[in-house]
Amino acid sequence: MEWNDTGIVIAKGLFKEADLWLRILFREHGLATAFAFGGARSRRRFVGCLDVMNLIAVRVKQPRENAYLGLEEAQLLRGPRRLREDPKRAGLAANCLKFLDALGLPEGAASEGFALADEMLARLELPEPPDFLFPYSFRLRLAGLLGYAPDFETCASCGQTVSGPAVFYPRDGRVLCPACAGRRREAGIGLSPAGLDVLAIVQQNYPLSWPADDLPAAERRKLAQAIDGFVEFYLGYTWDRGRFSRALRRGPSEGDASSCSFKT
Ligand SMILES: [Zn+2]
Repeated sequence: MEWNDTGIVIAKGLFKEADLWLRILFREHGLATAFAFGGARSRRRFVGCLDVMNLIAVRVKQPRENAYLGLEEAQLLRGPRRLREDPKRAGLAANCLKFLDALGLPEGAASEGFALADEMLARLELPEPPDFLFPYSFRLRLAGLLGYAPDFETCASCGQTVSGPAVFYPRDGRVLCPACAGRRREAGIGLSPAGLDVLAIVQQNYPLSWPADDLPAAERRKLAQAIDGFVEFYLGYTWDRGRFSRALRRGPSEGDASSCSFKT
């Protein structure tokens, strides 16, 4: 079986002496590992286009069902420029791509996941660098593709549309209006109407349409805290020393989580 697709190189490594393995996010075929046989030596077939973060057009061959995917041909469509020169931007992109690789994508969400990664890389090429909330926004958007999308616009207790500030409870994945939050013992994260708007917009749009970072720094830190808590609790991943490690899911009444590191 052979097919053509467009892909973003997420990771790569040497396999045996002359071959490369690649993690590629394909626009139509989703996240997959493919091998470029002879790719470490052949300059002709792959013309130096198999670098991480490159957008490539590929022809892929799968000899039989469940066999390895082999890259037959690849052509560079777009490579990062600012990203290669700016370690900070490259770090943000790597963080997002590692998260995507660690969590994977459900079947049927390939094109949305591809658009998210593609626009993430495109956003990082713009002259104005994004602020620290950017990778958190990426995680929130990806969580939505995986089926975890908290409603930031409705109080989960009384059902009223939230028109002012509200309180977010990461472990519940929901917001409560101040009146309902006042009846709970547990403390949540207080968010302003502007902050809630940012979360709702991020959830429904791709990175090039995310709002500019015009919230006060303290408010942005709260958004990051809200997303982090939510992602850790529901998806079980936390960023730790340069990689995402998987903490075992905690129930509200359980004690400390044991964790195991996740191989990337
Ligand atoms: Zn309420």
